[in-house]
Amino acid sequence: MSSAGLGHVASQGGPSQFREEADPVTSSLGMLSCCAGPLRLMAVHAHPDDESSKGAATMARYVREGAEVLVVTMTGGERGDILNKAMDRPDVRANLPGIRRAEMAAARDILGVQQRFLGFVDSGLPEGDPPPPLPEGCFALQPLEVAAMPLVAAVREFRPHVILTYDENGGYPHPDHVMTHRVSIEAFEAAADPDRYQDCGEPWQPLKLYYFVTFHRARFTALHEKMVERGLESVYAERLAAWADEDDEPVAPGHEITTYIPCADYFEIRDQALIAHATQVDPQGPWFACPVEVQREAWPTEDYHLARSLVDTDKPEDDLFAGIREQVLRR
Ligand SMILES: [Zn+2]
Repeated sequence: MSSAGLGHVASQGGPSQFREEADPVTSSLGMLSCCAGPLRLMAVHAHPDDESSKGAATMARYVREGAEVLVVTMTGGERGDILNKAMDRPDVRANLPGIRRAEMAAARDILGVQQRFLGFVDSGLPEGDPPPPLPEGCFALQPLEVAAMPLVAAVREFRPHVILTYDENGGYPHPDHVMTHRVSIEAFEAAADPDRYQDCGEPWQPLKLYYFVTFHRARFTALHEKMVERGLESVYAERLAAWADEDDEPVAPGHEITTYIPCADYFEIRDQALIAHATQVDPQGPWFACPVEVQREAWPTEDYHLARSLVDTDKPEDDLFAGIREQVLRR
């Protein structure tokens, strides 16, 4: 069993606010030796529930090791479907945005992170051929500077050393995920520039930006093989077969994994956070088809691609703060 029980979760982090006191910040562009105080990690997500399916065990671990972790959620998930049959009821459908906020609050407390909604409206996943136009006013239709402004403000306020986000394909082709990638890059590049987003707080330079690499072939192969070895029925055979078919016609290669974060002791916490998103996740569904102890043995890390770095670091890394930790904690 895990050494990280669920019992002490709520006492850590939770709904606390951004740190108010000022660190001795040198606000010059491109500074590297940046701050005292705890290590700070920001995860930028499109919808409530994304934080629990991508990087959740990583965040749970860093929180419990004393880092400050803030999830920013670009939209309220208003146009999400109800993906758990047990929750598909008229009363739930009538108040989905409110229910998703409550689910997010529960997941936040389980993970122990801070969380903030940045106020955009879910674009929905357009389905059909050709797909219908995106709804007016939604997140994905905002001009980049409008969409990035609250994120730049959040970066300048929270002052993360490390930012996590999606790659340019969004991880999967939801317009809000692609837009989340774009605003994350914009904020990483603009937050330290005093001439940009001038009404959004004091400049701040994050030092590393990572993409989530979560649903990748090496991991699913390892999970599949371990399930077969244990005599369990693997749920990954179909997915692996689809990948094998693609070998004949390679699609765009994914991003190289540069960073493996050991976090197997936190997989139960991740699962509890996912289950808290009850309208989005069926507790009997495929998310939970591979037993945690199998996952722990087969693939005990969550994985990332280091997309931007202003510090030196040796790859592969096993710490998101590699190259940063020494500077921050020395001061
Ligand atoms: Zn999403």
